[in-house]
Amino acid sequence: MDAATKLCGVVGHPVAHSLSPAIHNAALRHDKRNAVYLAFDVLPDEFATFVDGMRAAGAVGLNVTIPHKRAAAEVCDVLDEQAHQVGAVNTIVFTDGKASGHNTDVAGVTAAVKEIGPIEPDATALVIGAGGAGRAAAWALAAMVKEVWVANRTAARAEKLRSSIGRTAKVIPWREVPTAAASVDVIVHATSVGLEGDEAILGPYELQKAKRCGVLLDLVYGPDETPLVREARRVGIASADGLMMLVHQAAAAYELFWGSPAPAAVMRRAAAGMARPG
Ligand code: NAP
Repeated sequence: MDAATKLCGVVGHPVAHSLSPAIHNAALRHDKRNAVYLAFDVLPDEFATFVDGMRAAGAVGLNVTIPHKRAAAEVCDVLDEQAHQVGAVNTIVFTDGKASGHNTDVAGVTAAVKEIGPIEPDATALVIGAGGAGRAAAWALAAMVKEVWVANRTAARAEKLRSSIGRTAKVIPWREVPTAAASVDVIVHATSVGLEGDEAILGPYELQKAKRCGVLLDLVYGPDETPLVREARRVGIASADGLMMLVHQAAAAYELFWGSPAPAAVMRRAAAGMARPG
């Protein structure tokens, strides 16, 4: 590091668990950039001041994680289409003193789903969850399939997402998720269920009945295969957990920061090494 070292990082609260520094610093080293990517634990009350400070300090950009993604949309001078649709920003780029807000979670879901398997344009997709990740997933799928079904434990949140997407989306009542899973081509799980322990949003019986489903993405990830991915693979559904999306959204953010292609394979190895050591 020297006086010309460029600064970027991730801001969240808490943020100590974030894999983003390992992923981005591996890419920066690979590309021999004189830059560093740090993690900043910032309280919600101090978020706007922090972003102003980073802008004043000449930082290249920031990734934004829980709980600041909505606040980030408020502090940016301009939003791209995805950030505007989702109503949340996970990447801020500072250019000539202006902050532009992006949502690379959308690109992350799109790329991950495509990597898992082919999807026909007349497909139907089920998104389980309508929080920040569920919104990004639903918008990503709305551009890829004919119809997006959204289910959320709190129905009002699913309805809000449906109405923002429009007529290609429909709400599935929470209790009908297992039945709906049997009628769709793509399933994206975007709730916090499965983050800890062995709980899965769909059990072996429901996955066994999901005969049409050719692609399943679980946004949750951990040191091992998630229970949902394990069961889906057991019944022959092509699946991946959230690490794949994490790397794709990070690669999209890197490209926004640096204006050049991301070394995706390097980033993937760094993520896997941190999430699943040994
Ligand atoms: P969020 O905005 O807080 O939303 C949480 C979602 O989980 C809501 O849909 C919530 O439903 C639902 N939920 C929580 N507990 C539940 C339960 N016991 N039963 C049923 N539904 C429950 O969080 P988020 O940012 O969307 O994150 C959601 C998940 O995606 C997390 O597991 C997170 O780690 C993962 N994620 C992964 C990536 C990646 O790159 N792989 C990126 C972002 C997020 P209600 O509305 O009813 O509360």
